Amino acid sequence: LNQSGANRPQSPGRRQFLEGAVIAGTTLGAAANPGFAAAARAAALSGDAEQPADPPGYLRRGSESYERARQDAVWNGKRPERYPDVIRIANNAGDVVEAVRLARRKGWKIGIRSGGHGWNAPHLRNGGLLLDLSYLNDIRVDLQSQTVSIGPAVRARDLQAKLNQHGFYFPTATCPTVGLGGYLLGGGASFTGGIDGVACNSIAAVDVVLADGRQVRADDTSHPEIMWAVRGAGPGFFGAVTRFHLRVKPLPRSMLSSVYVFPRDAVDEFLEWSISMLPSIPAQVSANSVGVASWLPHHQGTILTLFPIAMGEREDETRALLEPFEQCPFLERAVLHQPPAPWTYDAGYALQARMYLKGHRYRADALWVNPQLPGFAEPVKRMLKTLPSPHSHVLWAPWNTDAPLHPNSAYSLHTPLSVHPYGICEEQRDDDAMNAWVNEALRSLEPFSNHGGKVNDNDLAAYPKYVLSPDNTRRLEELRGKYDPDGFFCGYLGSPRPAA
Ligand SMILES: Cc1cc2nc3c(=O)[nH]c(=O)nc-3n(C[C@H](O)[C@H](O)[C@H](O)COP(=O)(O)OP(=O)(O)OC[C@H]3O[C@@H](n4cnc5c(N)ncnc54)[C@H](O)[C@@H]3O)c2cc1C
Repeated sequence: LNQSGANRPQSPGRRQFLEGAVIAGTTLGAAANPGFAAAARAAALSGDAEQPADPPGYLRRGSESYERARQDAVWNGKRPERYPDVIRIANNAGDVVEAVRLARRKGWKIGIRSGGHGWNAPHLRNGGLLLDLSYLNDIRVDLQSQTVSIGPAVRARDLQAKLNQHGFYFPTATCPTVGLGGYLLGGGASFTGGIDGVACNSIAAVDVVLADGRQVRADDTSHPEIMWAVRGAGPGFFGAVTRFHLRVKPLPRSMLSSVYVFPRDAVDEFLEWSISMLPSIPAQVSANSVGVASWLPHHQGTILTLFPIAMGEREDETRALLEPFEQCPFLERAVLHQPPAPWTYDAGYALQARMYLKGHRYRADALWVNPQLPGFAEPVKRMLKTLPSPHSHVLWAPWNTDAPLHPNSAYSLHTPLSVHPYGICEEQRDDDAMNAWVNEALRSLEPFSNHGGKVNDNDLAAYPKYVLSPDNTRRLEELRGKYDPDGFFCGYLGSPRPAA
């Protein structure tokens, strides 16, 4: 679980940072986008697939290149049967301006893809234009100002690796291949959410192409309404972000994690213990739990896992943060226990990559709940007992509701815990069973919820719910009316309000 400290703080890197060295314009390019269908891009560049009425670079439905690009735009193995009329693979912000202007002239609605990790692919719609930004993936680190500017398709692991080299970090997603574009727009839950709050707090400015084809650099002074929506509206945002300007932080000098794995028949003790710990989990500790089929060679069946990760400046302090977990009253029942040991982003990402395999068919969703309400453990136990496939799992993720929240942000819903049922299968014939299990799981959690889900982890088409507070849901609709009065940008797929 722990590697050799490859991305632990390196003092020379930090010194270099403080001395103000600048690494500009580092382009990761196609290497950061390995699944991309190069042939589709070549066809787009040469214009061999479009109809005569389209300028070069537009892939029309019906061509092989179009279908490859359409398939490539969705990370989930469950690719929806939705077909835009045209796909534009942008190479730069100028292409985005041109595509938005063309869409206006043609009356096309626009769906936008950055990393393609949206669980239910809100960018893939029937008709209109799919604007594929997956090649906008360069990283420019400015060590002097402690900022980084990135294209929206940069992946979590690539940004983290670049920053860690210099002794800095950004609160990226816990899954290595998530794109920063959709992640930041939807808030962003990271390994350091307890300290940093949602990742969108750290957006200083964005370059955005608006529905009228204008490109603006927005910050909180020049365009406060745009910045409000950028911080949390997710797929409800009314523009195309071509660049994010982000604040970064020094990498903590000490990062430790421990591991606790119990058999499912310890579920009563496990839930009581993990829920009772919630109010006292320090901000510097991330402590997600997962109930999943065992991958351990020496244990079969469902296992319950807790992986606390602590960050701080001194190892003795970080170790002390993890000590309460070591006091687990039923530790002797663990089928795997690893006491606190050095943790790295590489190690965290390696573990996550094993949980979320590309190619599998995912139905994901989540609700914010109040775990202190009597009876909360029952629906979770039922979910664990009825996992519908070997890969399916339940994640429950504590959230520090005292963590900072930028005063100018649409992001607005949280409670001390989110519960995420993931129905995961390999065959299309099992999709309905995954859906049925997830919907039933959500229904059973409703009495303990605020009827809201995480912006980034939900399927509003399969299960309508709030993703912003009711007031912010209304305000976002007003701003959409102001900035995109003709509704060119697609907006949420499904209803951002609970079903009546
Ligand atoms: C395996 C897996 C693990 C995940 N782990 C985490 C996690 O740890 N923390 C977390 O917070 N979330 C997590 N997520 C959720 C993830 O953050 C969201 O799905 C996010 O939308 C992905 O961003 P993307 O750019 O890759 O996706 P995309 O599918 O490209 O984008 C999603 C939507 O965002 C909008 N959008 C994207 N880019 C732009 C842009 N440049 N301009 C305007 N609108 C845009 C579009 O509406 C688009 O449909 C995970 C998802 C998966 C599949």
